[in-house]
Amino acid sequence: MNDLAPVIAADKAHVWHHMMQHKPFETSDPRIIVEGKGAHVWDAAGRRFLDAVSGGVWTVNVGYGRTSIADAVRDQLVRMNYFAQAAGSIPAALFAERITAKMPGLSRVYYGTSGSEANEKVFKMVRQISARHHGGGKSKILYRERDYHGTTLGTLAACGQPERAAQYGPFPDGFVEVPHCLEYRAQWDDPDYGRRAADAIEEVILREGPETVGLLCLEPVTAGGGVIVPPAGYWDRVQEICRRYDILLHIDEVVCGLGRTGEWFGYQHFGIQPDFVTMAKGVASGYAAIALTVTTEAVFERFKDEADPLAHFRDISTFGGCTAGPAAALENMRIIEEENLLENTRAMGARLMANLRALQSRHAVIGDVRGLGLFQGVELVADRATRHPAEERLVARVVAECAAEGVIIGMTNRSLPGMNNTLCLSPPLIVTEEDIDTITAAIDTALSRVFGGAG
Ligand code: PLP
Repeated sequence: MNDLAPVIAADKAHVWHHMMQHKPFETSDPRIIVEGKGAHVWDAAGRRFLDAVSGGVWTVNVGYGRTSIADAVRDQLVRMNYFAQAAGSIPAALFAERITAKMPGLSRVYYGTSGSEANEKVFKMVRQISARHHGGGKSKILYRERDYHGTTLGTLAACGQPERAAQYGPFPDGFVEVPHCLEYRAQWDDPDYGRRAADAIEEVILREGPETVGLLCLEPVTAGGGVIVPPAGYWDRVQEICRRYDILLHIDEVVCGLGRTGEWFGYQHFGIQPDFVTMAKGVASGYAAIALTVTTEAVFERFKDEADPLAHFRDISTFGGCTAGPAAALENMRIIEEENLLENTRAMGARLMANLRALQSRHAVIGDVRGLGLFQGVELVADRATRHPAEERLVARVVAECAAEGVIIGMTNRSLPGMNNTLCLSPPLIVTEEDIDTITAAIDTALSRVFGGAG
């Protein structure tokens, strides 16, 4: 596609790409994706790839080329694109009703445009509740080692991935880390590891003083920190701890929300009742920028007081009022329902897991395979006995070899020092059995090329 040469030149001259070291672009070209259909994308050179990461960062849940979403957005924008100043919109009201119908116990939606923003809103709500209702107490926010909640200074203060936060401080005060719950890299030799990992949260609360702690913020399945599904026994105990110490529970569903794990939300696998849920990526599958902070009526009520001019949530998101987001989200949700994508996610997720486990039996470099639904990780190790992580440059070569085979996969990226060793898989929820087999065949080939033999 030679006609794209000026575009590539413009990109190289003017675009500062997200999360990229640009030095290599002095001698090579950035990848420009020009088209998508279903689970496939095409680059500027006309090469076709099966996308096993849903747009790079687990976003395009319903796949590419959805004209019905584009039509819904177009129709809405032509009728009414934007108005803020306390005015609502038809798609915002309808989507708030539809999404909360999937989330018993949660009823209030605050709109924004990014996952970071949605999480930051929770932190602000908790700080305001602290100021108004606890005399400044209960302002501390607990987050978990290896979790990620966004890129703003507030959300980086709650970042359990040191390489993400490095060099961007100082951060706001009052954020405290609790230990991770990845059993493969267990910190405790305890047969009831899930309960032990949750007990570690209680230990932090008791150390800090329960009267100082207002929020516990967790990913339901940790994404970029290594695709970590909390072990059995963890969530029941987490819920119990939050109730005992009157700590609000915030589940960050920015990645897991809207079907990624085979339920509408990741937390719904675990029988817990959060006070806040945030979501973004899969809400409109990348067809529009939209994020939601969802909470309970009880939290919402705490901001109602006409006598106090500072009582309401004094926050705004200019483009949280743009109607393109909820218009796209309504159609995105209709597609998930009508095409039975939750069922497909469960079935294809099971096939992906079985295929990966078969690879593990042949490739010694695969230390662990884990995940839920179409959200899975393959941790590569230099030595299975010691579990010493595989070298990052070799993991990156596996990703590159998969691309050479026509399959785009991801890896943990700048999350933990020496621990960027997990391949990440999160294909669109529409994938077929053939797609799943293509993904695992590419990984098989790539592992053999990089690590030799059958790895
Ligand atoms: N929370 C989680 C779990 C994420 O993975 C991300 C982004 O990858 C975010 C929040 C931040 O979302 P955004 O990039 O839309 O700000």
